Amino acid sequence: MKIGCMIRHGKRIDKKMRQTWKLLSGTACLVLLALPVLPVEAAVTKAFVSISPQKYFVQKIGGDLVDVSVLVPAHANPHSFEPKPRQMAELSKSAVYFSVGIDFEKFWLKKIAAANPKMRVVHTDDGITRIPMADHHDGEKSRPSQKSNVEARAGHDHGGLFLDPHVWLSPSLVKIQAGHIRDALTAIDPVHRSRYKSNFASFMREIDELDAELKALFAGRKGEQFMVFHPSWGYFAEAYGLVQVPVEIEGKDPKPAQLQKLIRHARERRIKVIFVQPQFSAKSAELLSGEIGGQIVYADPLAENWAGNLREVARKFGAAAR
Ligand code: ZN
Repeated sequence: MKIGCMIRHGKRIDKKMRQTWKLLSGTACLVLLALPVLPVEAAVTKAFVSISPQKYFVQKIGGDLVDVSVLVPAHANPHSFEPKPRQMAELSKSAVYFSVGIDFEKFWLKKIAAANPKMRVVHTDDGITRIPMADHHDGEKSRPSQKSNVEARAGHDHGGLFLDPHVWLSPSLVKIQAGHIRDALTAIDPVHRSRYKSNFASFMREIDELDAELKALFAGRKGEQFMVFHPSWGYFAEAYGLVQVPVEIEGKDPKPAQLQKLIRHARERRIKVIFVQPQFSAKSAELLSGEIGGQIVYADPLAENWAGNLREVARKFGAAAR
């Protein structure tokens, strides 16, 4: 850049030459600018995550040092998802896989890891204590029940209690996941240790602010209930003192008797909103909302803009909880 620019300003060169030099020096500047980006700088770390909110977490900590791909598309149900052959090929270019403990991983993660022995697999849910998946309503105590299909498929039996995988919907649990992400990126790319460290610190501040905001929003509303088709919001409810009343029972539409019970419950409690998510059919939720003269409202647990989405969903829950 220096050479080109000096010559460009040279007085002895005639006009035509100057123009030629201008072109050349422009090119030289471009090449010199491009050079450090290409071979000198360490390659960007290619990472895979299971679901979109995790992309948000990895980008917060990795910034432009990571290139994140999401395995489960936004519209797909992460409980029953199966990767496409094209995605399996993409995975082979990835340095790291951040799992979150969602159902499909139980079967596919082993295959994914076996096909990519050099890829690091990081369980970001390590150290998180799972709560039982809500499968009851009316404030009944959880009772031992038949194994659900999902549990049977996953060979997962906790005395009839299916443990809730939706750990990314509680700010305090995301802090744990973010710690695993920071550690893994630092191990893969130790040169940028301090950047991962400071990005992590600012992400923690962002989470603290969000958490304080949501705590303020739900202050004094302990025990209020919101009704949701698929019970994705157990950790969220627990964090803010709310009660999630699921329509779906053990991953299935409610039977007529169960539906009647839900209708009674909603009427008694004056619940007017049934929350649904884009990845599930809203059929039985619509039926229920029709019966109670209520409405269907979307609350997406898988939105990529994690913080913005939690704020928005919290506002909707806040308006609907009774
Ligand atoms: Zn779910």
